[in-house]
Amino acid sequence: MTRRKLLNDCFLTDKERLSHVECLEILTCRLSAVTGTEELPLVETSGRWLAADIIAPRNVPLHDNSAVDGYAFAAPATGTMPIVVRIAAGDLSTHRLEPGEAARIFTGAPMPQGADTVAMQEDCTVDGDQVAVPLDLKRGANARRAGEDVAANTPVLHTASRLRPQDMAALASFGLPGITVRKPVRIAILSNGDELLEPGAEISQGQVYDSNRAMLQALAETLPCEITDLGILPDNAELIEATLADVAKTHDVILTSGGASRGDEDHIINAIDTLGTRHLWQIAVKPGRPMSFGQIGDCIFLGLPGNPVAAFVCFLLYVRPALTVLGGGSYQEPIRYPVPAGFDVPTKKPGRREFWRGWLEPGPDGRPVAHKFTRDGSGLISGLRQATGLIEITEDVTSVARGELVSFLPFSGFGIDS
Ligand code: AMP
Ligand code: MG
Repeated sequence: MTRRKLLNDCFLTDKERLSHVECLEILTCRLSAVTGTEELPLVETSGRWLAADIIAPRNVPLHDNSAVDGYAFAAPATGTMPIVVRIAAGDLSTHRLEPGEAARIFTGAPMPQGADTVAMQEDCTVDGDQVAVPLDLKRGANARRAGEDVAANTPVLHTASRLRPQDMAALASFGLPGITVRKPVRIAILSNGDELLEPGAEISQGQVYDSNRAMLQALAETLPCEITDLGILPDNAELIEATLADVAKTHDVILTSGGASRGDEDHIINAIDTLGTRHLWQIAVKPGRPMSFGQIGDCIFLGLPGNPVAAFVCFLLYVRPALTVLGGGSYQEPIRYPVPAGFDVPTKKPGRREFWRGWLEPGPDGRPVAHKFTRDGSGLISGLRQATGLIEITEDVTSVARGELVSFLPFSGFGIDS
């Protein structure tokens, strides 16, 4: 396992704000994999990051074989042929057909030597041990060639790619007994705030149930993570400091929400400054301005704003890329789809990037149009639920008129299924 300490340079003074692009670049280029590797049986590796390149050890399929139930022969057929052998799937075929001979053959059965074409049984006429096949079949019809799926020695999957269900099929088709993958990122998640309550607790004025922890855990589960739930920490400087110091010894990442601003009751940032190094505090992004990033020893600290919408958006934009890189994955930017806006926003503050909660609906011509959740509050979870993606408005934009193209980033590009 290679553990590389982050650079100990501070990327930001308290006076500046990093742009979205700078923030993402720090999180994806300055970090590197911290997880170890393990060899697991194939069925346990779905969703993991590969830790070694996969090269096809042999041809798939291994042998030329029939794609249908029928009769194999050497094209072109000239008329009725004697059926001289029967070959089923799983048989070892050592038979050699002479020109003008046919083999009874079944789907997946190895082609006999001398044959290159198979006629489907539905198209054949059999009379005793003689078969008449269609005369217009092209050479190679209904026959699968050895290596036509993957040829031996082809690079198939690269280190740091994520194993998807279809990759499982490919790896299984090579007959590999074990796959070397990255271990999950050990991530500890906590919420911070005196006002926060666990579900089931009696609520009174001034209190809110903690909604971020359940959401952030679910988001972390979209990546290979081993999650420790640290619960809710009150606004108590000593307790926060002691907890973070302790947890940092046994985790790759600490993810917090709340207490991330510079209020008197925001102790998380102070704790990071005391225990380790803070690399980043504020970003010129809405929602999400007080997004922080630092380290306590070798443990990466990612601090999200307390407002649920800001915590959600910052997870997708920054925590997800960081967890990808730390976990040994290669980070891919989500695809941005240019879509006409179905709304007007007459003024937008320049100099910051905004991510609006949006969804697509068919417009008058049937093509998709982006719609925006109209209420702005970053505590409104209902807007997150109505949305199916984010509308990205870059720093230079100062207004959006109906019909102008905006970038739409579906949540599916961030690993959230709808
Ligand atoms: P803070 O970042 O601590 O200043 O919190 C900003 C806002 O988010 C406040 O209204 C908090 O009550 C709210 N908040 C913080 N953490 C949570 C949470 N875990 N669940 C729901 N709301 C939260
Ligand atoms: Mg707070």
